[in-house]
Amino acid sequence: MQLFKWPGQLVLLNILMFMSWRSCRGLNVPDYSSRYQRDPKTVISTNDAGRNPDFYFPADPEADLAESAPEEPPLLRQKYRPATSTPSPRPSAAAAFSYNPKDKNGPSNWNRIDARCGGRYQSPILLNTSSALVVNRKRPLRLAGITNLPDSIRLQNDGHSAKFTYNWRNVERPVLSGGPLKTKYVFEQFHFHWGSNSSVGSEHVLDQQRYPLEIHLVFYNGLYGSFQEASNQVDGIAVVGLFYEIYKHSANEQLNTWTFFLYNVVQPNSEYTISFIDTFPLYEVIGDIEWPYFSYEGSLTTPPCLETVTWIVATKPLLVTEKEMNQFRRLRSATGLMVNNYRPVQKLNNRRVFLY
Ligand SMILES: [Zn+2]
Repeated sequence: MQLFKWPGQLVLLNILMFMSWRSCRGLNVPDYSSRYQRDPKTVISTNDAGRNPDFYFPADPEADLAESAPEEPPLLRQKYRPATSTPSPRPSAAAAFSYNPKDKNGPSNWNRIDARCGGRYQSPILLNTSSALVVNRKRPLRLAGITNLPDSIRLQNDGHSAKFTYNWRNVERPVLSGGPLKTKYVFEQFHFHWGSNSSVGSEHVLDQQRYPLEIHLVFYNGLYGSFQEASNQVDGIAVVGLFYEIYKHSANEQLNTWTFFLYNVVQPNSEYTISFIDTFPLYEVIGDIEWPYFSYEGSLTTPPCLETVTWIVATKPLLVTEKEMNQFRRLRSATGLMVNNYRPVQKLNNRRVFLY
């Protein structure tokens, strides 16, 4: 059978193929959107996960080689058992913690709020370029869907931070993969840690330097049905951390879209919905993810401090102005101004920190 009957047919076919590719918005991953619309548990159960190829990388010899290379992180947290006896995080207990070192619920006493905060693989830690193990054979870190727009964004002052949770209905959630991650991780929310002045604020310390602000983008393993379900699993969570440094050329500029909304959540336990027309993609928050980064196995930095987090911390800071920092410093917690909401650095113990 003759496929092309007239000369323009091939050109028309090319145009049609280009248009259908465009509608994918550049995503090179399968369409998961229908699975995350309402109740993901009904679609991907933990039992299904082993049979679900969408969230595993295909077995390619290059990847296998990289995994068997000596620089690859070993499974350091096998001692942690996500047993059924593990209590799920209690919101009331988590709400009671404080960042004030003099407070009875301050960071040094968080292990009384939840014993897991006294574990051996806690975060944040000191990150040092000179002592990190350099990974030579590496898979690139990828964030698919970085330009996708959510339906809305829920901004919350939860009493401890300013948290932006994206609400997706008809669009794929951004998915993080590659680098130290063995599977694909689905974007959940981002939030910040900051200081009362610009000499402090970040949770991680990079080469003895603390930055005024640190963003945490929280992802959960797509093998599990939700963030809650994944957070108790040994490979459940991946957090991307980035530092901000002060933009010195102009104190009054507004460089970051999301800072425009902070004044809506000054009061503790308040929230504000950013409607579709004002939403912004992750690309507008962090830009391209092309920086070298540290990776290590650690924990959530707030109670219950679950040791289920693969940390990815960028070495290249983003920019923020003093005006924007002051918008953070106006937010309030239950006990006063919400500032210095960073946990002190924790012991490394026998962990290794990798530099990708
Ligand atoms: Zn955080």
